[in-house]
Amino acid sequence: METCIAHVDANCFYASVEMAEHPELLGKAIAVCGDPANRHGIILTASYPAKRKGVKTAMAIWEAKALCPELILVRADLRLYMRYSRYTRDIFYRYTDRVEPFGLDEAWLGLRGCPACGGEPLRIVQAISDAFKRELGITCSIGLSFSKVYAKLGSDYKKPDAITVFDRANYRERVFPLPVSDLLYVGRATTRKLNEMGIYTIGDLATCDPARLQRKLGKMGLVVHRFANGYDDEHICQVGDRAPVKSVGNSWTTPRDLTEDTDAWVVFMLLCESVGARLRELGCKCRGIEISVRDASLSWFSRQTVLPMPTNITEELTAAACALFRCHYHWSKGLRSLGVRGFDLVWSDEPVQLRLDIDANRQEELMRLDGAIDDLRRRYGFSIVQRAKVWTRPELARLDARHDNVVHPHGYFGQMEGL
Ligand SMILES: [Mg+2]
Repeated sequence: METCIAHVDANCFYASVEMAEHPELLGKAIAVCGDPANRHGIILTASYPAKRKGVKTAMAIWEAKALCPELILVRADLRLYMRYSRYTRDIFYRYTDRVEPFGLDEAWLGLRGCPACGGEPLRIVQAISDAFKRELGITCSIGLSFSKVYAKLGSDYKKPDAITVFDRANYRERVFPLPVSDLLYVGRATTRKLNEMGIYTIGDLATCDPARLQRKLGKMGLVVHRFANGYDDEHICQVGDRAPVKSVGNSWTTPRDLTEDTDAWVVFMLLCESVGARLRELGCKCRGIEISVRDASLSWFSRQTVLPMPTNITEELTAAACALFRCHYHWSKGLRSLGVRGFDLVWSDEPVQLRLDIDANRQEELMRLDGAIDDLRRRYGFSIVQRAKVWTRPELARLDARHDNVVHPHGYFGQMEGL
């Protein structure tokens, strides 16, 4: 099979965009953060000169300043980064209509049979890398392979400004020695379980007996085994597709019965955090939300509503889920399980009618907050940051709804059902 799937990842995206917009910052140690005036605020992204001095994402500003006194702090401007994200997509569309965004600064491209650059995938990604530099003033790392998972590994393999090819001839030698935690969807919990089985590298996982993996990890064991071997669904959504998936949902059977509104709020908040994060990663918003409720006698119902505006903001999703819940449940019995699903998905950058009854500034703040939380969790794991109110119920707060439950778009794992 030919290597015709690319994964493009912009390097230090927020910091690079700031340098592209403000050339006087070029080559300097800069860091993007929420509020430069708050010494206890946190670094979101740092430029390479800052990284070389030891500045890292999630570090407190005072700590970063101690390591690198000349560090220039820049306030994050999510709208600007979203604009650049659209510019990157415009570049991709010159070469292919199969573009699947993954967050603001990453995307998979399907290059099979694309006429551009004589149909030669390596020349197409070279042209994309050049266009990033020439037109946007930022660099990217690109992985080119025969599967989405391997392409993503390729874009991580060498940074910045690099192209890595994993093909049929070299993947055993280059991919197999990588740590298993590098693999997409292998989070900390899964890594721990795999390590317990003596599996440390992607090669260990690829050559492990799938039945053994299934016993330890359930269906997810078979999925990661396929990923390790470079098999995935390969589908990359096309321009004009409404969205790559139809809905994103997650549910949780709680460690104790829920008995009051605050319990339910905490669980809805954790579930909406995972659903919101997944929507944001896909570059989508949902127009509707559905909750499902199961009580201690295992009787079950679901209710849905259309939202006033499409959203992927955690707080708005949680408010909508809780409002539906209060409207339809009145605590006749304790509850065993709750679920949330966002449906009727649209692209995040699809224009929407502004509404006077919705505070756009507040929305912007919430978007910035979600973006910062996503960034931190992507790099440092779920527990690096949590909402204080969730800890009013510590026994519930420990749920990492995203990774313990593996929230996935329904469309994607629907294709794995046959396993
Ligand atoms: Mg990046």
